[in-house]
Order: sequence, then structure tokens, then C-alpha cells
Amino acid sequence: MLEVRDLSVFYGDAQALDRVSLSVGENEIVVIVGANGAGKTSLIRAIGGVLRPRGGSIRFADREIAGLDSHVVCNLGIGQVAEGRQIFPSMSVLENLEVGAMLPRAKAHAKAQLEKVFEMFPRLRERTGQLAGTLSGGEQQMLAIGRCLMGQPRLIMFDEPSLGLAPSVVQEVFAAIRSLHAEGMTVLLVEQNVAASLKLANRAYVLENGAVALEGRGADLLDDPRVREAYLGL
Ligand code: ATP
Repeated sequence: MLEVRDLSVFYGDAQALDRVSLSVGENEIVVIVGANGAGKTSLIRAIGGVLRPRGGSIRFADREIAGLDSHVVCNLGIGQVAEGRQIFPSMSVLENLEVGAMLPRAKAHAKAQLEKVFEMFPRLRERTGQLAGTLSGGEQQMLAIGRCLMGQPRLIMFDEPSLGLAPSVVQEVFAAIRSLHAEGMTVLLVEQNVAASLKLANRAYVLENGAVALEGRGADLLDDPRVREAYLGL
């Protein structure tokens, strides 16, 4: 579904990604792990059209999307749940969800989609009128996922969804990703939480200094001595 080839991204003269290649197949969960500054966020931003790559290609559903504006990329069906959740704190839960349905691709079925989001996250239904900024951290993450779903994506990219959340809430967020996947969603997940995210992954890539250092099945990487030593402290 998604094919990234030799992607290079710079901030001025500083190179953040160096010829990164990866693929995400239909209904896969692909995880990108790596330390702080490895380039994970830059990768998500380049795919999502927030950053313009200097080189390489990004194909989504057999169409070249590198360099397209982010609203065009979103409307092709790539949703993004950004780092730090990025909900609108002074708008209600319902208003936040409605913003997610403003994409042309999503307008026609917004009502039915809202019902699906509420089925998945019943707490959002209970809190439709509440200001989003007053939700707990975990609820805000659920709202960010719900808002993204309102755009009816075919692929969802998550940037560190576990960041800053209590361990029990992290479990909830990962359970939500697992159930989205069970319903057929394709997922690209960027995480610093290496152990938990590799357990979730069909396949994974380890990013180091802007380049792919290792790739393989999630379970195999969990057993890989290099991963165990560098990322799991074992
Ligand atoms: P983190 O987990 O801290 O978000 P990351 O793996 O997502 O890290 P990136 O944020 O993609 O990594 O950063 C990759 C490199 O690009 C780092 O060296 C970082 O310092 C640099 N970088 C990121 N954003 C900018 C920016 N706006 N301007 C200049 N350099 C940047």
C-alpha cells in the first residue's frame, strides 16, 4: 500500500533522513523504532506531506505522493495522529471529531463514522460536550485517534502515541491500535517504547541516525541481540 524508496530529508544543511526505504502492506502493522533524534518524526512528516523530501519517492496506492501538500495526502487516505496529540483544547469533544470529518473524502459518511468512533471509544460519547483540554491524557489520545478516524483513512500513521501516558493508559492505546488493525486498518506506528511496539508489529524497522539499521518481523527483532542490547537494556 505504501512504498518509500531512498527518502532523504534535510533541515537546511542538516540531514535528518538518509535514503530510507520501507514498505507497508495492506492491513499490516509496521513499526518504526529508534532513539531520540533518529528521524522517526521526520519520516512521518515527509510521508504526510508536512515536510518536502529532498530525494526519493513515496508511493501510496500506486500513486507518487512525495512533495504533495498534507491536505492532499490526507484526502488520499493517509491519516496522521501527531506526537503530543494536538487536539483543540478549547473545543468540545464533538467539535474536535467534526473537524476530522471536514476532508472531502469523509463528508458523505460522517454520521455513520461518528457512530463507529463512539462504539470504539464509548468514553468519547459520554463526554461529547466536554472541552477537550479538560480530558485526561489517555482520553485526549483516544480523541486524537477518533478525530483521525473521522477522516476515514486507509492508512493511519501514529507518532509516539504512548508518549507521556501512564503504563495502564499505554496498554489502552495499544489495545485500540490492535482492534483497529483487527477491523482491517493499515498502521504505521513510530515508537520509542520498543518492547511494547515490537510485540504489536507484523514487521518493524530500526532507525539509527536517519537510516534503516535493521528490519524484520517484530517477533524476530525482539529476539535480536542488537535490539536487546541497544533498546531493551538486556
Ligand atoms: P524524537 O523521538 O525526539 O521526536 P525522532 O526520531 O522523531 O526523535 P526527528 O525529530 O525526526 O527524530 O529528528 C531527526 C533529526 O533532525 C534530529 O537530529 C533533529 O535534531 C533534527 N531536527 C528535527 N526537527 C528539526 C528542525 N525543525 N530543524 C532542524 N533540525 C531538526
